[in-house]
Amino acid sequence: MRSVTHRFGVIALLGTIVLTALAAENVYDKFRTRSYSNRGYLSEADEIKLGAQVHEELRKEHRFVTDATITSYVNALGQRLVSNSKRSNLRYQFFVVDDKAINAFATLGGYVYVHTGLIRATETEAQLASVIGHEIGHIVGRHGLENVKQAQKYGTLATIAGVAGAVLGGQKGGNIGQLAGNLIFGGKLMKHSRDAEREADYLGLYDLQRSGYNTRGMVEMFEILQNISAKNPNLLGNVLASHPPARERAANTTNEIRAKLRGSDTRGTNTSNEFQRIKARLR
Ligand SMILES: [Zn+2]
Repeated sequence: MRSVTHRFGVIALLGTIVLTALAAENVYDKFRTRSYSNRGYLSEADEIKLGAQVHEELRKEHRFVTDATITSYVNALGQRLVSNSKRSNLRYQFFVVDDKAINAFATLGGYVYVHTGLIRATETEAQLASVIGHEIGHIVGRHGLENVKQAQKYGTLATIAGVAGAVLGGQKGGNIGQLAGNLIFGGKLMKHSRDAEREADYLGLYDLQRSGYNTRGMVEMFEILQNISAKNPNLLGNVLASHPPARERAANTTNEIRAKLRGSDTRGTNTSNEFQRIKARLR
């Protein structure tokens, strides 16, 4: 009898330990107390210069939408999220890339890009806002800067020190463009670690919530991405395809809402007439 009670006690204790471990297992916990700055990276002024240079290179390879109704809508949406982000001092610029791939990315110094294919894939403004919030999260988390730093460290961008010097000195020259080109087309700038992706999701979720959006939009967006990767993976742009599986991202978001943002998925803005108008213009 005694040993049965004892055994039961041990099992109950083990159960408690397992449950405690599960409860503590929140992938977002490590991001909660992080403070953000350019310390250890390029200065903000240099980051902006490099971002502008990368943009010049992107312009050579991509066509940007010029329809002012679309661009000003995406910009207003982006600025609303920026004002509720942890890096609202920076000047952000949002560009719509005329490309059917379902893709979005951020580079350096406030430059954010959304493909028309992604806008077409969304059904509500909150869903689109969740993607833009995620991209702003990469800028807040200095993830592009981290990639520049890593590339520099491992010498995969041998010229970066010289180029950074050229950027600093305000020189114009082929090697700045070469650096920007290496960063973009070598895939080094926008390919982040899985943890960086989780952090961008985490930051984006809070931007979404503080901007008054229904946070369910983010979960729905991951469900859309999951669907597309199951049925038409070739539609996914290279950047989104390299992110953690959409199923995991949806689960992380759902867990966070349940634990910390209860009710935020049943209230707030879902969509708008402007969003519907933009969608119609893209058709
Ligand atoms: Zn990302």
